Amino acid sequence: MKNKPTIAVIGAGLGGAAAGALLQQAGYPTKVYEQAPAFSRLGAGIHLGPNVMKVMRRIGIEDKLNAMGSHPDYWFSRNGMTGEYQSRIPLGEFALENYGAAYITVHRGDLHELMVSTLDQDNLHFDKRLVDVDDSGDKVVMTFADGSTEEADLVIGADGVNSRLREKLLGTEAPIYSGWVAHRAIISAEKLKAYDLDFEACVKWWSEDRHMMVYFVTGDEKEYYYVTGVPEPDWNHGTSFVDSSQEEMRTAFKGYHPTVQALIDCTESVTKWPLLERNPLPLWHENRLVLLGDACHPMKPHMAQGAAMAIEDAAMLVRCLEDVGADNYQRAFELYRTNRFERASRVQQVSHDNTWLRADEDPAWVFAYDAFEVPLKQPDAI
Ligand code: FAD
Repeated sequence: MKNKPTIAVIGAGLGGAAAGALLQQAGYPTKVYEQAPAFSRLGAGIHLGPNVMKVMRRIGIEDKLNAMGSHPDYWFSRNGMTGEYQSRIPLGEFALENYGAAYITVHRGDLHELMVSTLDQDNLHFDKRLVDVDDSGDKVVMTFADGSTEEADLVIGADGVNSRLREKLLGTEAPIYSGWVAHRAIISAEKLKAYDLDFEACVKWWSEDRHMMVYFVTGDEKEYYYVTGVPEPDWNHGTSFVDSSQEEMRTAFKGYHPTVQALIDCTESVTKWPLLERNPLPLWHENRLVLLGDACHPMKPHMAQGAAMAIEDAAMLVRCLEDVGADNYQRAFELYRTNRFERASRVQQVSHDNTWLRADEDPAWVFAYDAFEVPLKQPDAI
């Protein structure tokens, strides 16, 4: 491989889009293959912490995101019943000064659209569902559901929790249903004006076994959003979401604070998602194949860091290819794994335990991280 290797990224989700954009910027001939025929603006929000915004800076969309997003001054945790404050985590100016970038909340669809727009559109291929890879020759041969085949020197599996590439590396194994679901709804802030209540920019309402995280998803604060974590022992709907209802929300959050009841009253449509996990994987890469994001460490979303980990992975993977030189891609992949495994596994665990920012704590280990600057740990041997 005298020139930069050709790279295929499977999946144009948040991790795949970040990987594709950073690789293309670094001069790797990179094609991105996405199974969906197109993307739509699904009703969901997402937190982008300073750790992610530093990657967005490299991609060149930090300013646009800052203009697009809501900038909470604090993350509040409150007792779901009494409203008592359990933590006040400073964000806003504090995050800029101490963690090196803003903490914002945005509409997931707006973020995704912006990220996908940074890709070379001629090398972004929709309606391409990977069904098989053959990594036995000089190049990886990929076969897609439409019967077509493509080749690349290296293939990155950014294909989410049901990753086909993970399956090729480690065999078929369904993700673990955690026993929790998440309800998601976007509410018009206009409707909330009817209430004499304070709707804070970023607040998590907690009780013993469930919670509701609430925040604005646009800078103009016209769209408010909630996402829950609620125990539900059985899930019989596969890995996709289903419709939920106001009635179901009322039952799940009976006895909760009037502010939460107001949000439920203003809910027009709400969906319900199974929360899926995997135990840390024994293998992140083999030969010319490598995984990132939910493909290798899916987690409960209770730290709001799942996509953040996928995006950090993308940044670290590109950094390691540049650092080692892509000729030695196996060493670069192992350097990447060495520098991501511990952090991603720790975030998986804290997300599983759902303890993040429930009480006052120092979040610097998550927010101050810079995938491009953190000193690299060398792998023991490969
Ligand atoms: P995905 O986003 O799942 O993308 C995978 C892509 O690959 C998809 O576009 C898919 O269509 C495509 N694909 C799959 N299979 C194939 C194939 N065979 N061939 C081609 N393409 C394929 N994270 C945060 O950081 N902050 C939050 O606030 C947050 N909130 C969340 C709330 C909920 C309720 C949930 C469920 C998750 C939340 N997350 C959050 C987590 C976050 O959504 C995921 O961790 C993140 O989307 C993972 O990114 P990814 O690129 O690895 O995978």
